[in-house]
Amino acid sequence: MNYRFYNAKILTMKTADIMEGELWVQDDKILYVGEGSDAAAICQKISIDSILWDREIDCEGNLLMPGFKNAHTHSAMTFLRSYADDLPLQDWLTKQVFPMEAKLDGEMIYHLTKLAVLEYLTSGITAIFDMYLTPETTAKACVEMGMRCVQVAGTSGQENFEQSLKKMEERYHVLNELDPLHSYFIGFHAEYTCSRALLEQVAAMAHKYQAPVFTHLAETKSEVEGCIERHGMTPTKLFDSLGIYDYGGGGYHCVWMDEEDMDIFAKRDLSVVTNPGSNTKLASGIAPISEYLKRGINVAIGTDGPASNNCLDMFREMFLVTGLAKLKEQDAAAVDALEVLKMATVGGSKAMNLPDTDVLAEGKQADLIMIDLHQPNMQPINNIAKNLVYSGSKQNVKMTMIQGKILYENGQFAKSYDVDEIYRKANEIIRDLR
Ligand SMILES: [Zn+2]
Repeated sequence: MNYRFYNAKILTMKTADIMEGELWVQDDKILYVGEGSDAAAICQKISIDSILWDREIDCEGNLLMPGFKNAHTHSAMTFLRSYADDLPLQDWLTKQVFPMEAKLDGEMIYHLTKLAVLEYLTSGITAIFDMYLTPETTAKACVEMGMRCVQVAGTSGQENFEQSLKKMEERYHVLNELDPLHSYFIGFHAEYTCSRALLEQVAAMAHKYQAPVFTHLAETKSEVEGCIERHGMTPTKLFDSLGIYDYGGGGYHCVWMDEEDMDIFAKRDLSVVTNPGSNTKLASGIAPISEYLKRGINVAIGTDGPASNNCLDMFREMFLVTGLAKLKEQDAAAVDALEVLKMATVGGSKAMNLPDTDVLAEGKQADLIMIDLHQPNMQPINNIAKNLVYSGSKQNVKMTMIQGKILYENGQFAKSYDVDEIYRKANEIIRDLR
């Protein structure tokens, strides 16, 4: 399909400037983005004779920008939304989350992931970085619905881990070949669920494939203290000393990092994926975002799973990133709105190795969103970046396009989705699990 978006404000994220002009999409890619408004002149500029439009969309002065990248989530945990809240972290995990997860199968995960995909689209999320139990069925749900998905292995186990390592390697081949919308990273759940021998094997695999590695990292104070007791050093130093980060990667959460941990992240060009909603709800702490930025560390933003958040809303996360940083440092100038937008778009693309989705530019993937500026919370238009982060909300998402396909527009999902059936299935699964 070929789309012409005209009469648009455009935030490419290559720079902070807002331009007024057009954006053309041909199949899955951006064919043109710029200030032109004369179709014939644009054709001449990009050296084509003419183009046949499937749709020409008058943006009416609304904003086009790159879609948000949700750089850490467990999509299928939709089944635990509002099931186990207001509990201490350990009780929440061991008494509620783990026993319920043990009853899940791949088909349930397929259906529960679909529910999450609907929510991502309403929030302008065009790519997710997911870790869960049956990546095959997560991938199936995402590819069927057109959601761009990077998955990371959640390998864990204290003893008998050969099987899960074998499985991870198989998946590394199969799931990286599945579909252009999908890719798969080497990873593991967290230090506290893995033995040293398993971590050594993960490092060996990272070396074999020269691949980056991601994991939950320094989410809680007790996790870091436990690691120091077990291994005599912080998780970041442990992973670095084992060679896990020799080909890049990073960590989810990164709340409790010391100076040396941060220096390792800077030196190895690792990514921090911050999850402020989850860290707030589970009382894990506030990540030192300004410290990361000061060191030039790439920062991305994730919602974490819907059991620990409970919503998959990048607007709420963006506000929390800057709001919590300001509180932590008692400095209202900490982590400005534009930095937050960069994290939610460009930073996510970098962490997820999706370089074709970071900014709006010719030849990039058409993963973009339209923001409705004709709503009271987006007026007046003094500064669009600040409006997005401080007063914006998912109600402003007018359209979500992934790989050149409009999957959500004016409150309606793609016609190919059976939305009622997705809700019905999710409710049936949670009834059966209880
Ligand atoms: Zn997580």
